Amino acid sequence: MPQLIAGNWKMHGLTADTVALAKAVAAGSAGIAADLLVCPTALHLAAVAAAVSGSRVAVGGQDCHQDKQGPHTGDISAEMLRDAGAGWVILGHSERRQNHGEIDELVREKTLAAIAAGLTPIVCVGETADQRASGQETEIVGWQIAGSLPKPFPGVVAYEPVWAIGTGNSATAEDVAMMHDFIREELVRQFGADGHAIRILYGGSVRASNAAELLALANVGGALVGGASLKADEFLAIARAATP
Ligand code: PEP
Repeated sequence: MPQLIAGNWKMHGLTADTVALAKAVAAGSAGIAADLLVCPTALHLAAVAAAVSGSRVAVGGQDCHQDKQGPHTGDISAEMLRDAGAGWVILGHSERRQNHGEIDELVREKTLAAIAAGLTPIVCVGETADQRASGQETEIVGWQIAGSLPKPFPGVVAYEPVWAIGTGNSATAEDVAMMHDFIREELVRQFGADGHAIRILYGGSVRASNAAELLALANVGGALVGGASLKADEFLAIARAATP
């Protein structure tokens, strides 16, 4: 399976900026072997989907509500994301877990809603700096996988150590290799043979300069890219570093 290079655009850009970025990514995507995905805000999803239409670039949301519909002011359902052109959705990002109090059980419900709507979920897991300092990184990530992923799980896991997100300090290749090997073991333990086929992305300060080293590691199935995905050239350079 090709590696997946996904851009999380977070809360950046107005319509014209996101459409221009989407067009630039689409224009540079020909000949790239990796699967490409960009995740704008829900507000910009339809415009971005139109901008990349006909290219190899897929579009995803950054969150969805767990219910199909209802009295949830300000929320967006998985079906609405799909209707706007999304094929994917990022769930349980640490910024949602931290800023919106999302716990594993809620992430699991959102993941089920995404699957039911025909979206492919990318479920994020990862330890904080304090948890790593106290040697709990595998325990925390194992619990997050057990609590956030429904069975079966037709989706992707993103390992994103919280301390590496947006800091410019990626985890070392040694740490990434160790954690991805652990996550693979855990997926196989929890999902049986299906666990071998689940792509595991690394996220946390991936740049064009460190992408090749990280993407070459066993059990790294791609990258979830925040800051560097806001520059088309850098995002495409990361995608070109993906292994076939
Ligand atoms: C992210 O927030 O998913 C992320 C990986 O951000 P950054 O690449 O900026 O660290």
